[in-house]
Amino acid sequence: MNKTDKIFVAGHRGMVGSACVRALKAAGYENVVVRTHQELDLLDPKAVREFYEAERPDVAIIAAARVGGIGANSAANSLFLYENEMIAMNTVWQAAEAGVKRLLFLGSTCIYPRLAPQPIPEDALLTSALEKTNEGYALAKISGLKLCEFLRRERGLCYHSLMPTNLYGTGDNYDIEHGHVLPTLIRKFETARMEHAPTVSLWGSGSPLREFLHVDDLAAACLFVLEMENPPDLVNCGSGREVTIRQLAEMIQEMTGCKSIITWDRTKPDGTPRKLCDTSLIRSLGWSPKIDLATGLRRTVDEYRVALATGNIRL
Ligand code: GDP
Repeated sequence: MNKTDKIFVAGHRGMVGSACVRALKAAGYENVVVRTHQELDLLDPKAVREFYEAERPDVAIIAAARVGGIGANSAANSLFLYENEMIAMNTVWQAAEAGVKRLLFLGSTCIYPRLAPQPIPEDALLTSALEKTNEGYALAKISGLKLCEFLRRERGLCYHSLMPTNLYGTGDNYDIEHGHVLPTLIRKFETARMEHAPTVSLWGSGSPLREFLHVDDLAAACLFVLEMENPPDLVNCGSGREVTIRQLAEMIQEMTGCKSIITWDRTKPDGTPRKLCDTSLIRSLGWSPKIDLATGLRRTVDEYRVALATGNIRL
């Protein structure tokens, strides 16, 4: 990838896409092309094809997706499958048809089997059954990464994929029902602190293990693999450190200064018991994360407070 390349970032208003745009600009890539949902419907193959043919980007970064936490996914697996499948097929296939030479497809480590060996290596893909709570999303992402792999093999296009672990950071979604656990917990503890609530109700048992990566570390990883001549087809990206949901809750509670008592709502799902990705491949290539969880959380809580005060937040 050259500094003068025209780079299309699909999903630039989301947490991942916006972090990629920031990282590209900071690294001196000035020719970044974006489209809002109103300007380009990624579910429409014809519109996507016409966009690629008119703009002719050198590189595409596919960070667009319908995303959500365990609540949103488990309530609407059909929608998560349909929309993410359409977005993947349109953005990847139409890019190839229009002659885009380089493409990075982003997914998530929920593509791996529910009971994959831990930490999860890339070659655990498709070795056993998926986690049911986000099966639709996972199937769509598996199709997308496979399409990249097939196109690379059949047409020699440098299309490749990166699968990040659970992400958090600037521009996250703070919706209580649909958000991921980390931003939701920040909102729950902050709200309870401000309202002097006696208790804070969290989901499940608190025992599942999750790994968290700051989105700015992920954006750096995206640039890192895009700057490689011959990147792997599929590479994991994570912090390598996991915490239980209970430990995460205690960290956020302490950071927010919330005095409420935590209760666990066991009618809500735990999801997959553990999801730590094996990052030895990307580390052996030379990338490593820079933002530890305590530092990233502090920054995110501070950003949440500013965003809430200025009304600049997705709730
Ligand atoms: P996942 O990592 O794909 O399962 O999705 P999430 O980011 O939504 O994390 C879900 C984990 O956090 C599950 O073990 C939930 O039971 C737990 N959890 C605890 N409280 C909450 C909450 O308020 N919202 C969400 N989304 N998850 C919660």
